[in-house]
Amino acid sequence: MRPKALIAANWKMNKLPSEVSAWVRDLKDALTGKVLNADLAICAPYPHLPALVEAVRRTAIRPGAQDVSAHKAGAYTGEVAAAMLQDVGVELVIIGHSERRQYHQESDTLINAKLQRLQEHGLVPILCIGETITEREAGMTEQIVLGQLTACLQGISLKLAAELIIAYEPVWAIGTGKTATAEDAQEVCGAIRTTLLKLYPTLAEGIRILYGGSMKPDNAAELLSQPDINGGLVGGASLEVASYLGIAEGA
Ligand code: PEP
Repeated sequence: MRPKALIAANWKMNKLPSEVSAWVRDLKDALTGKVLNADLAICAPYPHLPALVEAVRRTAIRPGAQDVSAHKAGAYTGEVAAAMLQDVGVELVIIGHSERRQYHQESDTLINAKLQRLQEHGLVPILCIGETITEREAGMTEQIVLGQLTACLQGISLKLAAELIIAYEPVWAIGTGKTATAEDAQEVCGAIRTTLLKLYPTLAEGIRILYGGSMKPDNAAELLSQPDINGGLVGGASLEVASYLGIAEGA
Protein backbone atom coordinates (compact mmCIF):
# COMPACT_ATOMS: atom_id res chain seq x y z
CA MET A 1 0.00 0.00 0.00
CA ARG A 2 1.28 3.48 -0.87
CA PRO A 3 2.38 5.14 2.39
CA LYS A 4 0.94 8.50 3.42
CA ALA A 5 3.24 11.37 2.49
CA LEU A 6 5.60 12.73 5.12
CA ILE A 7 6.88 16.28 4.92
CA ALA A 8 9.95 16.45 7.14
CA ALA A 9 11.51 19.81 7.91
CA ASN A 10 15.28 19.93 8.16
CA TRP A 11 16.02 23.16 9.95
CA LYS A 12 19.78 22.53 9.67
CA MET A 13 21.72 24.99 11.91
CA ASN A 14 19.01 27.62 12.06
CA LYS A 15 16.73 29.19 14.67
CA LEU A 16 17.26 29.40 18.43
CA PRO A 17 15.88 27.05 21.08
CA SER A 18 13.90 29.99 22.48
CA GLU A 19 12.16 30.44 19.11
CA VAL A 20 10.85 26.89 18.80
CA SER A 21 7.63 27.03 20.77
CA ALA A 22 6.37 30.20 19.04
CA TRP A 23 7.15 28.69 15.62
CA VAL A 24 5.27 25.49 16.44
CA ARG A 25 2.37 27.53 17.84
CA ASP A 26 2.21 29.45 14.56
CA LEU A 27 2.21 26.15 12.65
CA LYS A 28 -0.58 24.74 14.83
CA ASP A 29 -2.60 27.94 14.33
CA ALA A 30 -2.09 27.74 10.56
CA LEU A 31 -3.22 24.10 10.59
CA THR A 32 -6.51 24.90 12.29
CA GLY A 33 -9.40 23.80 10.08
CA LYS A 34 -7.13 22.28 7.44
CA VAL A 35 -7.06 18.60 6.51
CA LEU A 36 -3.65 17.58 5.17
CA ASN A 37 -2.83 14.51 3.11
CA ALA A 38 0.58 14.45 4.75
CA ASP A 39 2.16 13.70 8.10
CA LEU A 40 4.56 16.31 9.46
CA ALA A 41 7.94 16.05 11.19
CA ILE A 42 10.47 18.66 12.28
CA CYS A 43 14.17 17.80 12.54
CA ALA A 44 15.90 20.41 14.67
CA PRO A 45 19.40 21.00 16.13
CA TYR A 46 20.13 19.20 19.42
CA PRO A 47 19.66 22.16 21.82
CA HIS A 48 16.18 22.79 20.35
CA LEU A 49 14.93 19.25 21.01
CA PRO A 50 13.44 19.51 24.54
CA ALA A 51 11.46 22.59 23.48
CA LEU A 52 10.42 20.91 20.22
CA VAL A 53 9.27 17.71 21.94
CA GLU A 54 7.25 19.78 24.42
CA ALA A 55 5.75 22.01 21.70
CA VAL A 56 4.52 19.11 19.54
CA ARG A 57 3.17 17.04 22.45
CA ARG A 58 -0.44 15.97 21.84
CA THR A 59 -0.14 16.81 18.12
CA ALA A 60 0.58 14.54 15.14
CA ILE A 61 3.80 16.48 14.41
CA ARG A 62 6.78 14.20 15.01
CA PRO A 63 9.98 15.56 16.57
CA GLY A 64 13.28 14.67 14.90
CA ALA A 65 17.03 15.23 15.19
CA GLN A 66 19.57 15.77 12.42
CA ASP A 67 22.31 13.31 13.36
CA VAL A 68 23.40 10.77 15.98
CA SER A 69 26.66 9.26 17.16
CA ALA A 70 27.76 5.90 15.80
CA HIS A 71 28.87 5.06 19.36
CA LYS A 72 26.68 3.86 22.21
CA ALA A 73 28.19 5.94 25.06
CA GLY A 74 31.49 6.95 26.56
CA ALA A 75 34.48 9.17 25.81
CA TYR A 76 33.28 10.81 22.58
CA THR A 77 33.34 14.52 23.34
CA GLY A 78 30.73 16.47 21.43
CA GLU A 79 28.78 13.41 20.30
CA VAL A 80 25.12 12.69 21.08
CA ALA A 81 23.98 9.09 21.60
CA ALA A 82 20.78 7.48 20.35
CA ALA A 83 19.85 6.71 23.97
CA MET A 84 19.92 10.45 24.73
CA LEU A 85 17.67 11.27 21.78
CA GLN A 86 15.23 8.57 22.81
CA ASP A 87 15.26 9.86 26.39
CA VAL A 88 14.44 13.39 25.23
CA GLY A 89 11.47 12.06 23.23
CA VAL A 90 12.79 12.28 19.68
CA GLU A 91 11.17 9.89 17.16
CA LEU A 92 13.02 10.43 13.86
CA VAL A 93 16.69 11.09 13.08
CA ILE A 94 18.28 12.20 9.81
CA ILE A 95 21.47 10.28 9.02
CA GLY A 96 23.84 10.45 6.08
CA HIS A 97 22.84 13.96 4.99
CA SER A 98 25.14 15.11 2.21
CA GLU A 99 26.34 18.00 4.38
CA ARG A 100 27.59 15.40 6.91
CA ARG A 101 29.12 13.29 4.14
CA GLN A 102 30.80 16.36 2.59
CA TYR A 103 31.95 18.40 5.60
CA HIS A 104 32.54 15.55 8.05
CA GLN A 105 33.70 12.84 5.66
CA GLU A 106 30.95 10.45 6.76
CA SER A 107 31.18 7.09 5.03
CA ASP A 108 28.47 4.53 4.32
CA THR A 109 30.09 2.30 6.96
CA LEU A 110 29.76 5.00 9.61
CA ILE A 111 26.17 5.72 8.55
CA ASN A 112 25.38 2.01 8.80
CA ALA A 113 26.67 2.04 12.40
CA LYS A 114 24.49 5.09 13.15
CA LEU A 115 21.49 3.26 11.72
CA GLN A 116 22.16 0.34 14.04
CA ARG A 117 22.33 2.67 17.05
CA LEU A 118 18.97 4.18 16.09
CA GLN A 119 17.38 0.75 15.73
CA GLU A 120 18.63 -0.24 19.19
CA HIS A 121 16.54 2.63 20.58
CA GLY A 122 13.44 2.37 18.41
CA LEU A 123 14.25 5.61 16.55
CA VAL A 124 13.32 5.91 12.88
CA PRO A 125 16.19 6.85 10.55
CA ILE A 126 15.68 9.20 7.63
CA LEU A 127 18.55 7.81 5.57
CA CYS A 128 19.81 10.33 3.00
CA ILE A 129 21.40 9.23 -0.25
CA GLY A 130 22.17 11.14 -3.43
CA GLU A 131 24.61 11.83 -6.22
CA THR A 132 26.79 14.87 -6.91
CA ILE A 133 26.52 16.80 -10.17
CA THR A 134 29.78 15.24 -11.39
CA GLU A 135 28.40 11.77 -10.76
CA ARG A 136 25.11 12.61 -12.52
CA GLU A 137 26.89 14.05 -15.54
CA ALA A 138 29.06 10.92 -15.71
CA GLY A 139 25.88 8.81 -15.94
CA MET A 140 26.58 7.24 -12.54
CA THR A 141 23.49 8.38 -10.63
CA GLU A 142 21.89 4.97 -10.02
CA GLN A 143 25.21 3.27 -9.36
CA ILE A 144 26.06 5.86 -6.67
CA VAL A 145 22.63 6.10 -5.09
CA LEU A 146 21.94 2.37 -5.01
CA GLY A 147 25.50 1.70 -3.83
CA GLN A 148 24.96 4.08 -0.88
CA LEU A 149 21.59 2.48 -0.17
CA THR A 150 22.83 -1.09 -0.04
CA ALA A 151 25.98 -0.20 1.90
CA CYS A 152 24.06 1.81 4.52
CA LEU A 153 21.48 -0.99 4.87
CA GLN A 154 24.05 -3.79 5.12
CA GLY A 155 22.89 -6.27 7.78
CA ILE A 156 19.86 -4.15 8.70
CA SER A 157 16.63 -6.10 9.19
CA LEU A 158 13.19 -4.58 9.56
CA LYS A 159 9.98 -5.81 11.15
CA LEU A 160 7.80 -2.96 9.86
CA ALA A 161 7.99 -0.66 6.85
CA ALA A 162 7.61 2.32 9.20
CA GLU A 163 10.98 1.54 10.80
CA LEU A 164 12.88 3.07 7.86
CA ILE A 165 12.57 6.22 5.75
CA ILE A 166 14.78 6.91 2.75
CA ALA A 167 15.44 10.44 1.47
CA TYR A 168 16.71 10.73 -2.10
CA GLU A 169 18.53 14.04 -2.16
CA PRO A 170 20.55 14.88 -5.28
CA VAL A 171 23.46 16.85 -3.80
CA TRP A 172 23.34 19.40 -6.63
CA ALA A 173 19.73 20.27 -5.74
CA ILE A 174 20.22 20.89 -2.02
CA GLY A 175 20.04 24.56 -1.12
CA THR A 176 20.76 25.58 -4.71
CA GLY A 177 17.29 26.40 -5.99
CA LYS A 178 17.80 23.74 -8.70
CA THR A 179 15.14 21.08 -8.25
CA ALA A 180 15.28 17.71 -9.98
CA THR A 181 12.48 17.35 -12.51
CA ALA A 182 9.65 15.17 -11.27
CA GLU A 183 10.55 12.59 -13.95
CA ASP A 184 14.23 12.47 -12.94
CA ALA A 185 13.35 12.24 -9.25
CA GLN A 186 10.81 9.48 -9.93
CA GLU A 187 13.30 7.53 -12.01
CA VAL A 188 15.79 7.39 -9.14
CA CYS A 189 13.12 6.83 -6.46
CA GLY A 190 11.72 4.00 -8.60
CA ALA A 191 15.18 2.40 -8.73
CA ILE A 192 15.45 2.82 -4.94
CA ARG A 193 12.09 1.03 -4.56
CA THR A 194 13.28 -1.81 -6.79
CA THR A 195 16.36 -2.27 -4.60
CA LEU A 196 14.24 -2.10 -1.43
CA LEU A 197 12.01 -4.82 -2.92
CA LYS A 198 15.05 -7.07 -3.18
CA LEU A 199 16.18 -6.29 0.38
CA TYR A 200 12.74 -6.28 2.07
CA PRO A 201 10.30 -8.00 -0.31
CA THR A 202 7.25 -7.88 1.95
CA LEU A 203 7.82 -4.35 3.29
CA ALA A 204 9.32 -2.31 0.46
CA GLU A 205 6.06 -0.93 -0.95
CA GLY A 206 5.31 0.61 2.43
CA ILE A 207 8.72 2.20 3.02
CA ARG A 208 8.57 5.95 2.54
CA ILE A 209 10.94 7.40 -0.03
CA LEU A 210 11.19 11.18 0.33
CA TYR A 211 12.59 13.59 -2.24
CA GLY A 212 14.80 16.43 -1.00
CA GLY A 213 16.44 19.30 -2.86
CA SER A 214 14.97 22.79 -3.20
CA MET A 215 11.41 21.59 -2.69
CA LYS A 216 9.06 24.58 -2.65
CA PRO A 217 5.28 25.14 -2.55
CA ASP A 218 5.27 25.65 -6.33
CA ASN A 219 7.06 22.39 -7.23
CA ALA A 220 5.87 20.14 -4.38
CA ALA A 221 2.60 18.89 -5.88
CA GLU A 222 4.21 17.57 -9.04
CA LEU A 223 7.04 15.86 -7.16
CA LEU A 224 4.68 14.40 -4.57
CA SER A 225 2.35 12.99 -7.24
CA GLN A 226 5.07 10.63 -8.51
CA PRO A 227 4.37 6.97 -7.68
CA ASP A 228 7.58 6.37 -5.73
CA ILE A 229 7.87 9.74 -3.99
CA ASN A 230 6.19 9.55 -0.59
CA GLY A 231 7.04 12.94 0.82
CA GLY A 232 9.78 15.51 1.09
CA LEU A 233 12.79 16.41 3.19
CA VAL A 234 12.73 20.18 3.15
CA GLY A 235 15.56 22.51 4.14
CA GLY A 236 15.30 26.21 3.29
CA ALA A 237 11.56 26.25 2.65
CA SER A 238 10.85 24.64 6.04
CA LEU A 239 12.05 27.64 8.01
CA GLU A 240 8.88 29.66 7.40
CA VAL A 241 5.53 28.23 8.47
CA ALA A 242 3.81 29.43 5.27
CA SER A 243 6.20 27.75 2.84
CA TYR A 244 6.48 24.57 4.92
CA LEU A 245 2.69 24.27 5.04
CA GLY A 246 2.46 25.21 1.37
CA ILE A 247 4.57 22.14 0.57
CA ALA A 248 2.50 19.88 2.81
CA GLU A 249 -0.64 21.11 1.05
CA GLY A 250 0.84 19.87 -2.21
CA ALA A 251 0.60 16.25 -1.00
C1 PEP B 1 18.03 19.35 2.90
O1 PEP B 1 18.81 19.97 3.59
O2 PEP B 1 17.79 18.16 3.18
C2 PEP B 1 17.40 20.03 1.77
C3 PEP B 1 16.69 19.32 0.94
O3 PEP B 1 17.60 21.37 1.69
P1 PEP B 1 16.87 22.39 0.66
O4 PEP B 1 15.39 22.08 0.73
O5 PEP B 1 17.18 23.75 1.20
O6 PEP B 1 17.42 22.13 -0.69
